[in-house]
Amino acid sequence: MRGAVLHAPGDIRVEQRPDPTIEQPTDAVIRLSATCVCGSDLWPYRGIEAVHGPTPMGHEYVGVVEEVGSDVRTVRPGQFVVGSFFASDNTCEICQAGYQTHCVNRQPGAATGGQAEYLRVPLADGTLVATPELPSDDLVPSLLAASDVLGTGWFGAVAAEAGPGKTVAVVGDGAVGLLGVLAAKQLGAERIIAMSRHESRQRLATEFGATDIVAERGDEGVARIKELTNGLGAHSVIEAVGTQESMMQAIRATRPGGHVGYVGVSHDVSLPGQELFFSGVHLHGGPAPVRRFLPELIDLICNRTIDPGKVFDLTLPLDQAAEGYKAMDERRAIKTLLTV
Ligand SMILES: [Zn+2]
Repeated sequence: MRGAVLHAPGDIRVEQRPDPTIEQPTDAVIRLSATCVCGSDLWPYRGIEAVHGPTPMGHEYVGVVEEVGSDVRTVRPGQFVVGSFFASDNTCEICQAGYQTHCVNRQPGAATGGQAEYLRVPLADGTLVATPELPSDDLVPSLLAASDVLGTGWFGAVAAEAGPGKTVAVVGDGAVGLLGVLAAKQLGAERIIAMSRHESRQRLATEFGATDIVAERGDEGVARIKELTNGLGAHSVIEAVGTQESMMQAIRATRPGGHVGYVGVSHDVSLPGQELFFSGVHLHGGPAPVRRFLPELIDLICNRTIDPGKVFDLTLPLDQAAEGYKAMDERRAIKTLLTV
């Protein structure tokens, strides 16, 4: 099969790789319908995360089950399935509590690389969710978004306790932040403040339900959020970047008693204990348990209540993955969909 491999920072190649096969009786092999480039793929691509030799890339995937191991019960060949970046048994106490990304049997959900023609998914019963029927082509981008960015934005909104009567601020205008806006809207938030300096992203945020746009960032951004909330700060802030600046911006923009849902992959963030102590805010986040939300998200997509696939503003064939990365790195694209 063909698959994308990162050889060194900035060096993505689509090359011939071994076809994945069933290795454990709980595995499934799926033929991908579409895949995509994640904001978190840019960390190693930019050399901020070390690259130790050629690394198969990609962890967002949807596709049709090709083959299942002898112990797999809930999915079968021919079904269209959505998975996510961690495989989980969905039966342990942690999974049952809704934290499948911390499953006691957790494994990478796309160990053989999701930017490829085929993928082996471990713990298929616990990890994959089948759609009620084969989706029409126009639903595939939205189902692919559910695999990570929608599920992650959704968890950010849930962790921030977005809901009726709440003012929600969103730090970060990448796909996760934009879908955090969509999630906050679906969860019934009264007011949604998107923080973005980019016109095309501001437009999409508004389409997804943002009521206000704040272009300032850092301390100025915090001051603007306070101005918009009677000096109090937002009830709920979704942090969807993962830097020191964005995390502090989120904490400082939250009112005492409010909630920060942090879902940007944390890079060299250290929190000042005393400021945190006196802030009175709740912090909850981490790698999103996308699996918890998949059945609901698939339903909302298949009945066309939400259209998260709009975050894909560039579509390329898998063979042009390198250009897909470059466009995102240069912020010419919000998110690249790769057709397989
Ligand atoms: Zn588990």
